[in-house]
Amino acid sequence: MLTGQQDPYAAARGRMVEEQLRPRGIVSRKVLEVMREMPRHLFISKEHRDEAYDDGALPSLEGQTISQPYMVAAMTQELRLEPGQRVLELGTGTGYQTAILGRLVAGDGGSVWTIERAAALTALAQRMLGALAITNVHYAVGDGTAGWPAELWDRAGLVEFDRILVTAGAPDIPDPLLRQLADGGMMVVPLGGREIQTLTRVEKSQGHLRKTALFDCRFVPLVGEYGWGNGV
Ligand code: SAH
Repeated sequence: MLTGQQDPYAAARGRMVEEQLRPRGIVSRKVLEVMREMPRHLFISKEHRDEAYDDGALPSLEGQTISQPYMVAAMTQELRLEPGQRVLELGTGTGYQTAILGRLVAGDGGSVWTIERAAALTALAQRMLGALAITNVHYAVGDGTAGWPAELWDRAGLVEFDRILVTAGAPDIPDPLLRQLADGGMMVVPLGGREIQTLTRVEKSQGHLRKTALFDCRFVPLVGEYGWGNGV
């Protein structure tokens, strides 16, 4: 990764942390640190690169978006990630959030399994994470609402995750994701309408689910069998 001295965006990234994240309640040292290091501008097309550390979402390919830095930080902090965890992510997009997840669970076999329905975005993400030497990530192209495909599961036992992060807005929690959430695990998912959702934490404990509403948010729709359907 580029170091502060070579990276012309390091100062802007520092300001993003101090002005957008810390004052809004991002207190996790690990999250602040990874956001201070991750070169978000490299995940963004040249025409928008100078806005990479501004306080908003930006366009990515295929009419999709890369989420606002604060949103990425808030979702990541909610997940309380530890090295060694297995994380499922829906909506790889540019791979910026994926890269952050990968770094935070690295060690003790911790990995990220990420699904994206637009193949062009997966290709871009794979290239970027390769360049950043983030190697603990598995990629799939397809409808993530059906969960991680069993035939692509490279470990012994059930397909099961300690954490699940959905980065597109869902009308309801997709059932297959509930089945793939380990007991004691946690999911963070935007739930609600097509335009506005509520970021929601879902905890699974001894088969019971506990949902906590966090705050309002605005994501592109989760398109798929257990999302908004395939016709949109
Ligand atoms: N986390 C991304 C932003 C995601 S935007 C980033 O940091 O860049 C939401 C993404 O979810 C889009 O790329 C969209 O194509 C994808 N998506 C929507 N429905 C999906 C589904 N059912 N399965 C997998 N990906 C989906």
